Amino acid sequence: MVDGVGLSAPPAAYARVVPETRSILEGSGFTYSVPEALLGRALPGCRVVVPFGRRSVVGYVVERSADSSVEETRPITEVVDEAPLLAAPQLALAQWIAARYAAPLGEVVKAMLPAGVRGARPGGRRRGPRTTSLALVAARAVAGAPEHPPVLSPSQAEAAAPLLAAIAGGCHRRVLLHGVTGSGKTEVYLTAIAATLAAGRQALALVPEISLTPQTVRRFAGRFPGRLALIHSGLTEAERAAEWGRIRAGDADVVVGSRSAVFAPLPRLGLVVVDEEDASAYKQDRIPRYHAVDVALELGRLCDAPVVLGSATPRVETFLRAHTGDLDLTRLPERIAGRPLPPIEVVDLRDELHAGNRSPISAALERAMQECHAAGGQSILFLNRRGTATVVLCRDCGSALSCRNCSVSLVYHHGRGRCECHYCGASVPVPRVCPGCRSPAIRGLGIGTERLEAEVRERFPKLRLLRMDRDNVSERDAYHRIYEAFRAGEADCLIGTQMVAKGWDLGGVRLVGIVNADTALHFPDYRSGEVTFSLLTQVAGRAGRGDEPARVILQTYSPEHYAVRHATGHDYLSFARDEIRIRRALRFPPYARLCVCTYAHRDDARAEMEARRAAQILSDRLPPGGGLDVLGPTPAFLHRLRGEYRWQLTVRGEEIERAFAHLPSTRGWSIDVDPAL
Ligand code: ADP
Ligand code: ZN
Ligand code: ZN
Repeated sequence: MVDGVGLSAPPAAYARVVPETRSILEGSGFTYSVPEALLGRALPGCRVVVPFGRRSVVGYVVERSADSSVEETRPITEVVDEAPLLAAPQLALAQWIAARYAAPLGEVVKAMLPAGVRGARPGGRRRGPRTTSLALVAARAVAGAPEHPPVLSPSQAEAAAPLLAAIAGGCHRRVLLHGVTGSGKTEVYLTAIAATLAAGRQALALVPEISLTPQTVRRFAGRFPGRLALIHSGLTEAERAAEWGRIRAGDADVVVGSRSAVFAPLPRLGLVVVDEEDASAYKQDRIPRYHAVDVALELGRLCDAPVVLGSATPRVETFLRAHTGDLDLTRLPERIAGRPLPPIEVVDLRDELHAGNRSPISAALERAMQECHAAGGQSILFLNRRGTATVVLCRDCGSALSCRNCSVSLVYHHGRGRCECHYCGASVPVPRVCPGCRSPAIRGLGIGTERLEAEVRERFPKLRLLRMDRDNVSERDAYHRIYEAFRAGEADCLIGTQMVAKGWDLGGVRLVGIVNADTALHFPDYRSGEVTFSLLTQVAGRAGRGDEPARVILQTYSPEHYAVRHATGHDYLSFARDEIRIRRALRFPPYARLCVCTYAHRDDARAEMEARRAAQILSDRLPPGGGLDVLGPTPAFLHRLRGEYRWQLTVRGEEIERAFAHLPSTRGWSIDVDPAL
C-alpha cells in the first residue's frame, strides 16, 4: 500500500503484556512482538496467549509500541478477545493503582474484571443460589414512568450548582458535599445524575455495601427506571458478569454499587458520586489494596468527569483537602424541611455502675424506651458487638478463653452453645470448667447483641423485637428481609451492630439507644477517634427523620473524650479541629502517608527476625533527607492470626512512593499503602 507522503507511522509491532498469574509479583509486564496477522487484533485491553518460560499463559495487552527496549522478543501466540475487555481509561486507571498502592499490575487488572468475564471458574468457592438477589429484584421491579423529583431546596440548589456547571462543561471537578444526616445529599446526587444523562453521558454512584438497602436501590431505580445496573458483593458471579456486560454494551446509564463498582466499564462516564466517603468499606483489604475514593477521584480525572464526595462526617483528610483547594466545598448544614437533629442525652455508665445497675440498659434508656413505645414509635438499639459475652473468664486463675489460632478472646454465643473466634471462625463447645485450672468458676463478661436481645425481651416482654448482626444475616437476603419488616412496622425495636448505622431513612424511628459508645474508642489505631465520631453521628442520624420528635440516648464510660463530646453536640467542625491538631502533632495522615508491611510466619522468632532484617534494609536504603522514616518492627495488633505470628513495620512520609523500590517482597510479606481501619 502506498502512502501519500511516505510518512506513515511505523506499525506498533510490540506489545507490553501483563501475565494473569499470581507468581509475577513485580514489574509492569513483558514485551512481546506482535505477528503481522495479529496487528489489528492484539489491542490494548485484550487478552492474549503468550509463551512464558516453558509455559503458555494468558495475559493482558496494556500498551502497544513501535519499538522495544528488549533485544529479543517472543511473539504473541493468540488473541483471546474480539474486543478489548478494558477500555483506555480503565487501563490507565489500572496503572495508576499499581503505582499508587505498590501492587502488581496483573493483580490490579484481575481485580477490575469479574471472574465470570475473565472466564475463570470461581474455583472452590460456593456457587451462588439460582434465585435473583432481592436488591436486583428491587432494581428491576420499577417499571413505567420515572418518579417525579422534588423541587430542590435553596441550599440544595446551591450545593448542586458547582456540579451542574461541571456537568454542563463536561469537565473534571472535585467537590466535597458536607451535609448533616438527612440534609438531602442523595437528592443532590440524583439531580446531578439526571443532568448527566440529559447531557448524553453516564453516571456512577458508589455507596458502602451496608447502604445498599432496597430503599436506596429503589430510590435510584425509581428515578431512572430501566437504566440502572447494580454491582455489590451479594451478586453471584453470573449476575455480576451479566451486569458488567449490560454496562459495557451501553444498556445501563447509571451504575450503583459498592467499592468494586468503581471499575464498571461505562463507555461515556460523565459523573462519579461517592456517598459516605468516610466509610472504611471503600478500602479493599486484599491485593490490590486500593482505596476506592482515591480511585474514583482519579477515574473522574481520566474521564473528564466531575466527582462528588458526600458525607455527614468526612475523613479529616478529605476535609482538609477541601480547605486547601484540592476539593471544592459545598455544605448542607441543616436537615430537610427544617427538621431538627435529634438531641443526644449522655448517660455516664460509671454513675450507673455506682448506682448498682449492671445491666446494659440504663435507667434513662429504659424510661425512654417505655415512652417511645407507649407513643407508638419505633426504636433502634445499637451495639457494635455480636454474641452473648465478649470474653469468657475464669474467676479463679484469671485466664480468658482464647482462640487456638489467634491472639484474641473467644466470644460466647448462647444460641449456638459455642465460643467462637470472630477472626478465624474456630469454635469450641462452652467448657464446664476452666481449661487451665479446672475450676468451675468460669463466666462470661462483656455484652453482645445476643445478650442485649435477651435483656430487652425480659424487660419488655410485649415488644416485637428484631435483631440484625452478622450472625443472623449470613443467609443471603436476610438483611433485606429484616430491614423491610422493620420498615413496614412489623417490629417495634431493632437491635443491631453497625449494619443498622448507615443510610437508613425511616420516619418511624423516634428513639436511638447507643448501648455502648466506646467499642471503637480504645482501639490501638490513630483513627479510633474519627471512627467513633463518625459511627456515633451516623447512628444518631437514624432518629428524627419523620414528623414526630425523636431523641438519642448515648451510653458511655468516656463522656469527656473529644470524639464522644463533639458527637453529642453534633459538632463536626470542633471535632475536625481537635482531630487535625492531633494528626499534625503525631505526623499521621494527612500530614504523612503510611505504608504498613506485615510479615506472617508460623514461627514467632523467625517472623520477628525477618521483620528486623527488612526494617534494617529499608532504613539503609531509603533516600536520606527524604522525609521518610521506618517505625517498628512491632508485633501486629493481632499478633497471632489463623495460626501465624505477624510482625509489622510502617514506613511514613509525604512521598511514600520513594520507599516502594525498597519494600520487602518475598513470600510472607503483605504491603498495605494508605491502610484503613
Ligand atoms: P441524606 O442523603 O443527606 O441523608 P436524603 O436525600 O435521604 O438525605 O433526604 C432526607 C429525606 O428528605 C428523604 O426522605 C428525602 O426524600 C427527603 N428530601 C430530600 N430533598 C427533598 C426536597 N427537596 N423536597 C422534599 N423532600 C426532600
Ligand atoms: Zn482457671
Ligand atoms: Zn481465631
